[in-house]
Amino acid sequence: MTFRLAVALVFTAATLGSPHLGEGFAARAARTLDIYFIDVEGGQSTLIVTPSGQSLLVDTGFPGHEGAFQSQPGDARQARDANRIAAAVRDAALKRIDFLLITHFHADHDGGAPELAALVPIRTFIDHGTVPAEAEQTSRGTLDAFQRYAAVRARARHIEPKPGDRLPLTGLVATVVSSARATLTSALDGAGRANASCGAPRPPQEPHENPRSTGIVLQFGRFRFIDLGDLTGPPLYALFCPGDRLGQADVYLLPHHGGLDAADPAVFGASPPRVAVVNNGATKGGASDMFAALRRVQGIEDVWQLHRSRNEGAQNFADDRIANLDETTSYWIKLSAKEDGSFVATNARTGGSREYAASASGRTTGR
Ligand SMILES: [Zn+2]
Repeated sequence: MTFRLAVALVFTAATLGSPHLGEGFAARAARTLDIYFIDVEGGQSTLIVTPSGQSLLVDTGFPGHEGAFQSQPGDARQARDANRIAAAVRDAALKRIDFLLITHFHADHDGGAPELAALVPIRTFIDHGTVPAEAEQTSRGTLDAFQRYAAVRARARHIEPKPGDRLPLTGLVATVVSSARATLTSALDGAGRANASCGAPRPPQEPHENPRSTGIVLQFGRFRFIDLGDLTGPPLYALFCPGDRLGQADVYLLPHHGGLDAADPAVFGASPPRVAVVNNGATKGGASDMFAALRRVQGIEDVWQLHRSRNEGAQNFADDRIANLDETTSYWIKLSAKEDGSFVATNARTGGSREYAASASGRTTGR
């Protein structure tokens, strides 16, 4: 590839997702919690900026220019997902990533870390330590991606939290609720409702590493955000059955990219989320069963998707709730929450926003 073409590609990746330069400054002045759901084509990368300006990035998408599970990292300036993340970092007016949480060791989550570290300084790594060797059997390339990630991690501070631990963020409470197959043993503030929808848990589609995902709940005043990575199988179920341990999410990032195994009705049984976000790709995640399950959830106010799903039978939500209608664009969904529990979600593709009033439930702050 010519140098000029390479520059053009990097420039395109950087600008596609950032139509509102300087927005980060305005958001900071309003003391909001900002969350960017970055399009990494069915992996995860979620950038969280606290009201005090600290940053927590959850996962780094795929490696390489092509951005596939077995892609090799190369020139960071040409890395698809690392550059999309760097664009969000610039939009938020950040100079570094204070904390990088890797939910689990699959290449759609840890794969982009070496290239991202070459573009943006990363201060502290948070994860569950290691990956079992048998994870290679279900997802080839897992161990190579982990070795490359661990080499970058070795150059910085590293934390391995347990369920119940709080991440060292200020101005909000970030609680670890799952890690390395263990889950919270008691309910969070405002949680604990009995769940009438519990039956046998759905088996995880990938049994070795997804159920080990490190999941978090963020509580900012009355606003609650849940991100469980690809947590599926018995550990996902344990957070919702026999009673709900997490409480009602204002915003719930669906586990495993909205896959079939995260569509267990029990997960929505006790305290359905107000708003769900699906970090799916055009064909990855976004299972037709999940769309059907979401349409049955009582009281859910909205569903946002990173991609329109082409999966057979997928009942996509309205286009203005979808950041990318096909794979030619890489827009994010941005959310800004206030301490009173109200929040705004913006589709970077359309520029359109929806405001959500504070929940009437009068939840405790958890501080
Ligand atoms: Zn994944």
